[in-house]
Amino acid sequence: MNYVYRQAAAARGHGYLSANRRAGLIEKLRAEGIHDERVLKVMEKVPRHEFVDEALKERAYENSALPIGHAQTISQPVVVALMTQALLDGKKLKRVLEIGTGSAYQTAVLAELVETVFSVERIKPLTEIARKRMTAMGYRNVHFGYADGMGGWLPYAPYDGIIVTAGAEKVPPALLAQLALGGRLIIPVGPQGRQSLRLIEHTTAGMKETDLASVSFVPLLAGKV
Ligand code: SAH
Repeated sequence: MNYVYRQAAAARGHGYLSANRRAGLIEKLRAEGIHDERVLKVMEKVPRHEFVDEALKERAYENSALPIGHAQTISQPVVVALMTQALLDGKKLKRVLEIGTGSAYQTAVLAELVETVFSVERIKPLTEIARKRMTAMGYRNVHFGYADGMGGWLPYAPYDGIIVTAGAEKVPPALLAQLALGGRLIIPVGPQGRQSLRLIEHTTAGMKETDLASVSFVPLLAGKV
């Protein structure tokens, strides 16, 4: 679709550029129990269609995961919302580590809500596209790392929040070690395709774990490609 046509379609309230599509998604998120108004507002603002290929833009405001190449997916909006809401816990975070940049959609949502995001990805073309995309969109508070995120990102540790957007067999010890006291780690744990989304809080009495939901993520894999 060319630019002129798109603008016309948007003005008529149709297509993926229309405000109606985004408002519809936000209503679905509310219906699914997302209640943090800051998260809802940001998800209404961040253009999810900019994070998928041209052929999938029409589906960008559906509440579904979509392919982004390299056998990876952009996470389902309700899962992004749930993880962000659980990570923030209504507070203002300074430093957040994200493992699994992927399309950088979750990265952009975080960048709107916290001071600085450190985002690590193990697939080189994905990290390169993400960096270019986010720079073009004007985000200046994100640092991208090309690495195996199972080791966290030590030079910038500790973090107030850590979010893992791929399913781990078990919680990588490095992530626990890089979580500041009072910090929160959100991570899907369990066998491929049926993980439980865990919240791990670093308290003075140790690590406290809570199960938040059943989720289905692509696997957290070792090494760089
Ligand atoms: N939040 C992303 C999710 C992408 S899917 C989005 O919504 O677009 C999960 C991502 O985690 C993939 O890009 C995958 O390559 C990455 N990943 C998997 N294991 C990893 C690891 N050990 N370190 C860093 N990234 C990893």
